[in-house]
Amino acid sequence: MLQTLITSAIEKAHLFELATTDSLTGLYLRRYFEVRLQEEMVRVRRYGRFLSLLMLDIDFFKRINDTYGHQQGDKVLQGLASILTTSIRRDIDLSCRYGGEEFILLLPDTEIDGAYVLAERIRKRCAQTYFQTLKGKPLSITVSIGIIEMSKTTDVSKDELLRRVDNTLYVAKQSGRNCTVKYEKNTSNHSLTY
Ligand code: GH3
Ligand code: MG
Ligand code: MG
Repeated sequence: MLQTLITSAIEKAHLFELATTDSLTGLYLRRYFEVRLQEEMVRVRRYGRFLSLLMLDIDFFKRINDTYGHQQGDKVLQGLASILTTSIRRDIDLSCRYGGEEFILLLPDTEIDGAYVLAERIRKRCAQTYFQTLKGKPLSITVSIGIIEMSKTTDVSKDELLRRVDNTLYVAKQSGRNCTVKYEKNTSNHSLTY
């Protein structure tokens, strides 16, 4: 009886993991991330707290696949996931593979200045990391990052918040890549750091 219960609990945990995490990187999947983001936004409104989002995209990733092959590209994605998970607050922040080579972090109780410090730490770690390749010569990558803060007074939906941080990331790309951009209300006035 006990064994059946234990087996069933393990199976449920395994199924939960399969449904919520990306098999390549071990990070959360977008759908699960959005559920957690919605919950966190409710908390921010109710208790007058903050949250920040950090959206990151690898620069010219297609070239890496084209030069070194898809398998090597996958290894880079795994390496980046490891940089992310070892840069954030374990048990508090949430890291997610948002799309192919696009990642998003949910940072509860974090104002934009804190998000910025983290973004720059991650950006620099990426640029300084050399990934081993099957061809022998190590490769490095750069990333572009957009960050946004939400407070009690930020009256937007989850989708709008995601749209804004995505736009901010786009500004980082347009500004030459390998940089962090903070969301500003006036979209022509994003603050940019290389
Ligand atoms: P940009 O600096 O503008 O972001 O350029 P980019 O080349 O990174 O952007 P683009 O969107 O043109 O290409 C993204 C590439 O990411 C396309 C695809 O080859 C690669 N990609 C997406 N998912 C995976 C994956 O799971 N594994 C590998 N190896 N590559 C992937
Ligand atoms: Mg890219
Ligand atoms: Mg992309």
